[in-house]
Amino acid sequence: MNDVLPDVVGVWQFLEQSAREIFSTYGFTEIRTPVLEKTELFCRSIGESTDIVEKEMYTFADKSGNSMTLRPEGTAPVMRSIIQNRLVAQDTVSKLCYIGPMFRYERPQKGRYRQFHQIGAEAIGVEDPKIDAQVLLMLHHFFNRIGINAVSLEINSLGCPVCRPDYRRQLIQYLEQRLEPLCSECQRRYQTNPLRVLDCKVEACRTATVDAPAMIDHLCGACDQHFTQVRRYLDLLKVPYSVNARMVRGLDYYVRTTFELVTDQLGSQNAVAAGGRYDGLIESLGGPPLPGIGFAIGLERLVLMLDQDAGSLAVPDLFIAALGDAAAEQAFVLMSQLQMQGVRAEMDFHGKSLKAQMRRADKSGAIHTLIIGDEELRSGQAQLKKMADGTQSSVRLDALVEMLT
Ligand code: ATP
Ligand code: MG
Repeated sequence: MNDVLPDVVGVWQFLEQSAREIFSTYGFTEIRTPVLEKTELFCRSIGESTDIVEKEMYTFADKSGNSMTLRPEGTAPVMRSIIQNRLVAQDTVSKLCYIGPMFRYERPQKGRYRQFHQIGAEAIGVEDPKIDAQVLLMLHHFFNRIGINAVSLEINSLGCPVCRPDYRRQLIQYLEQRLEPLCSECQRRYQTNPLRVLDCKVEACRTATVDAPAMIDHLCGACDQHFTQVRRYLDLLKVPYSVNARMVRGLDYYVRTTFELVTDQLGSQNAVAAGGRYDGLIESLGGPPLPGIGFAIGLERLVLMLDQDAGSLAVPDLFIAALGDAAAEQAFVLMSQLQMQGVRAEMDFHGKSLKAQMRRADKSGAIHTLIIGDEELRSGQAQLKKMADGTQSSVRLDALVEMLT
């Protein structure tokens, strides 16, 4: 788990602001849910035999003996809240987004942490593939906006309860004939979670399954048509993508459209965002039978990809240096007035020499410096120095607020 330190927090704020701005253009409003939920919520939605539920959750009993879990992802909590607060009506689309910490007990490494942050969006209530394309367009737009181009969108369809069971059986049969070369993890899970084998990063598992049957070749008519339409709309909107028939998401609730944004800049942590459709999820949690689609972006991985010195420190507009106690008091009042007017003003509070104060002004990167001493207090005039080129101009202290705002 990491502290986000002041020298990088600017990058975080930039990402958060960009997401809020762009998502609101597409009609998404923010929802904030607690970081803690009943464990049962995640078991029922993400699925008992997934990596997350099997081994990655921070689960503990609270003082009343209830099993609680720090949320490992954002979709299930948002659906829980929608049901509990009756947030959606039929025949509309509800668009919600969230930003916040998620928790998974993983082996920490670059781009993989135990507390990490996601920005996510969920569009609920529409089965039409137009909404799939909209959500992907918004994701594409966000990455353009933040200036990360080294990512590509991969899409797939995971079918639905009509076509997937049959495909799943065929896949298990296929895997049964090739168990020996598979890694021990895949040998263990090929019956409970056969699709995950296709997604395994172990080279031997990849080689052994190159010609495995693909879900997109076994879609039912409705799913096949849905996927064709998603691709058509992406083409219409000029969102670049490729189809990755082996892509499997690690959560049980996904059906039909699934996708990942991948990069080759982060080693094996190659996914920066991922998501898909979860048409049966709300109903399975006790809500109305509403379809939905969403994604989550991993913030830490974006921060790693972005230039880290994106001007994150608060650079003052003005540093006021003062000579003597009376001047320091006047400087203090002036600084406070300027701050109230929205000017980033700074001063020294340690009674340092003028020379030391000027050194600090320089180091702070302040755009202007103002020196106040007895003479300036008497005349009400002072020299405003522009730090970039050293030019000075005489200013009236009582006109300073006006001048700098
Ligand atoms: P991975 O295959 O990398 O484990 P995942 O499929 O578990 O990813 P999702 O649950 O789809 O990931 O989460 C969406 C995004 O959240 C990921 O693409 C990634 O950017 C980010 N993410 C997931 N787990 C972590 C983590 N432990 N630390 C940092 N970021 C993470
Ligand atoms: Mg994972």
